[in-house]
Amino acid sequence: MSEYWENAGFYWQPLGGNNIDQISGHCYQYTDIIYNEKNEPRQTTIIVDIGKFDNYQALGVANSNAAVPDIRNLLGREFVTAEAVFLTHSHPDHLNGIPHYLKAGYRLPTLYGGKYTRMILEDLYEQFGIDRPCRPDYVVINDGDVIKTGSLEIEVVAASHTCFDSFGFIIQSSSATVYHTGDMKIDASTYFRKPTNLKRIKERRQEIDFVVADFYGIPDDGFAVKEVSTFKKLVSLIKKSRKGKIFIPVYPTHPEMYIIAFLAALKVKKNVVFFGNSDFYSYLKRIIEYGISFTQLAGERIKVIYTHDRDEIKELDSNYAVIGTYNHISLAFDASSRDSFGIVTAKTFFNPLKGQLNSHNIKFVSVDEEPELQGFGHGFLGDYEYLNSVLCRPTFIPTHCPVFVIDNFRELSEFIGMKLLENTPSNNEIYRLENGKCTLVKKNPSLWLVVSYNAGYAYFTEVKQKPTSGEGFLKRTISSRRCKNKFKMFLHLRKEKKEQENGPQKSP
Ligand SMILES: [Zn+2]
Repeated sequence: MSEYWENAGFYWQPLGGNNIDQISGHCYQYTDIIYNEKNEPRQTTIIVDIGKFDNYQALGVANSNAAVPDIRNLLGREFVTAEAVFLTHSHPDHLNGIPHYLKAGYRLPTLYGGKYTRMILEDLYEQFGIDRPCRPDYVVINDGDVIKTGSLEIEVVAASHTCFDSFGFIIQSSSATVYHTGDMKIDASTYFRKPTNLKRIKERRQEIDFVVADFYGIPDDGFAVKEVSTFKKLVSLIKKSRKGKIFIPVYPTHPEMYIIAFLAALKVKKNVVFFGNSDFYSYLKRIIEYGISFTQLAGERIKVIYTHDRDEIKELDSNYAVIGTYNHISLAFDASSRDSFGIVTAKTFFNPLKGQLNSHNIKFVSVDEEPELQGFGHGFLGDYEYLNSVLCRPTFIPTHCPVFVIDNFRELSEFIGMKLLENTPSNNEIYRLENGKCTLVKKNPSLWLVVSYNAGYAYFTEVKQKPTSGEGFLKRTISSRRCKNKFKMFLHLRKEKKEQENGPQKSP
């Protein structure tokens, strides 16, 4: 049987992130095969992201610690071997597969990623006890950098996401050019971070024939919430509350929300207490090390404290915002319904805190009533449409979403003039990208490697993913039926709008 790489071409393989039913463990292979003068095949392979699969318990291996995508074949034991790993950003579902591979004794090729991503990765190395000689080389990249490796050329383009140094990549081969977006949205109002480099994307519009759209918000209409809208919403809610103490819990892995909440407090001259669990403090420390000085931003206008020491808090004259990741209200705040108000910026994460606020009779609002409160790092349908409108009819390959989202999206995408790939890809299948066509060349089972630890070493167990292994998670996000109904509604609205625009048909 012939191997796919015996034929020249540009190949793409989702190794995680295009799951049957889950949306994590992102990892993608890009391989370019060309023939030299002697008619021998030459391969160039890169991997984009090595994430961790969140729902590993559902894979049913007792005493497991994680699950990772299977990249073993790309690590030097076969003809197709990865030369480099490109990292879009620092979130666990894109990054945290790395330490498990190292703990299992594998050596990884050079990593290319942002400065902030490296900081988070170094924390992981410490946490996992990975010695320096075992750590792969790391090259810090920035928006606009171009990296040549073998027959591939990769240009780094900034992406608006929730953490610093988030990138997409324009990957150019002799037979196709792909824009791999990374987690992103179009929003240009990012604070202290470069927004998506639309200028560069537009400059290369003629070349880009595929978009691997690695952001999952298509079942929401319009553009993803802008950061400036979240900021304005926070300011207005704080003002409207007329309370002295404002409780603003934020997700630990979303630095943009720490900053937005801080800027909102600064705007209304509320002192800031950073308060939370150890995860929160470790991310906060990284933000400060990265170069964001809250104390400097505060200047003389407000005080900023990083503990919840009763005496220090007393000095703030009951005028402060408590920003952090917490599910309990410290007694040091003496919070009561008279002087306190809560603004809960995430959906289910802070349910115990809501209970506490209720039991103290403290009023609060949450994202259920005010959707703009939640920072969104993932573009919505409007962001997809925007990309489609500035590029020249590329083929879209949505990833970072359950496959039913793509299946349900087909009718709507056709109506809005967006070219979707013909087959909905599942993890581990291999596709050839050519002339705007994405052709399945090899069907592999969707596999995960479940990681267990013994005496400090990681051991992998191969597990085939079952269609049901992520259902619990999906019930909390989106079900196939809800997704289908939403797309139906969007289609209906667009058809109606089109009819209105065209006006009543004139009779001859
Ligand atoms: Zn992310």
